[in-house]
Amino acid sequence: MYEHEAPPQAGSSYCPGVDCGGTGSGVYDCWDCDTAGYYCQECILQQHRHLPFHRIAEWNNNCLVQRTLKDLGHIVYFGHGDKPCPYIDDELGVQDITLLDVTGVHTVQMGWCRCAGAPTQAEQLLGRKWFPATILRPRTAITFRVLKLFHLLNHIARTNPWDFAGTMHRLTDNVSPSSVTDIYKPFKHVKRQWRVIRAWKRGGVRDPNVPRESGGLAMGCVSCPKPASVMVEKVVQARPAVQTDLGLSGAV
Ligand SMILES: [Zn+2]
Ligand SMILES: [Zn+2]
Ligand SMILES: [Zn+2]
Repeated sequence: MYEHEAPPQAGSSYCPGVDCGGTGSGVYDCWDCDTAGYYCQECILQQHRHLPFHRIAEWNNNCLVQRTLKDLGHIVYFGHGDKPCPYIDDELGVQDITLLDVTGVHTVQMGWCRCAGAPTQAEQLLGRKWFPATILRPRTAITFRVLKLFHLLNHIARTNPWDFAGTMHRLTDNVSPSSVTDIYKPFKHVKRQWRVIRAWKRGGVRDPNVPRESGGLAMGCVSCPKPASVMVEKVVQARPAVQTDLGLSGAV
């Protein structure tokens, strides 16, 4: 633990990464990567191409300072792999949005795909497993990871949204949690939508306005008595009407 917070070794502060060929000055460390040592800006950005929610520390020759990947120039591009959309500079260009992940609250730069016929911004976020808090021009999103985590914590540990949001604020900045973008209200709205949509999914609902078809995807109910599953064969044979009775009540 002490070694991970030690400054770069004097005389060996070169970056151990491969993208700079080992010539860069190693001053950046990631708190969330399972790597050791300090990397240069080029290597740390390359390592986090698809990890936009990792927290970075910079050695400023005096102490470790918390930085963000956004500070180092990280941009999440949509629609063209790792490359920016050719029309990215149209309209508003790259935009900042607030994202909640299991590592805390982050501000991430979004390089939307603005091609003709491109998905909406909300659809582009959902494509990355990020749930937008609003549909038109979303500026806040919550990762599916956080929503699954909260859903379990809510059921098992009885954690409420207020405490969870407060914990996330403190995880982001435990010295000054009030300076962190308040995530409570958008989180409260999104977690409700998440819960409803998961229930629909479990019930085999693709569109709540369309009646379900026979054979549609659905989770079996573990407490419903079913012949050859949770019912003894002899009981069914002895009392043919028992299937209907049990199926209706489910209380046996
Ligand atoms: Zn990392
Ligand atoms: Zn490097
Ligand atoms: Zn595009």
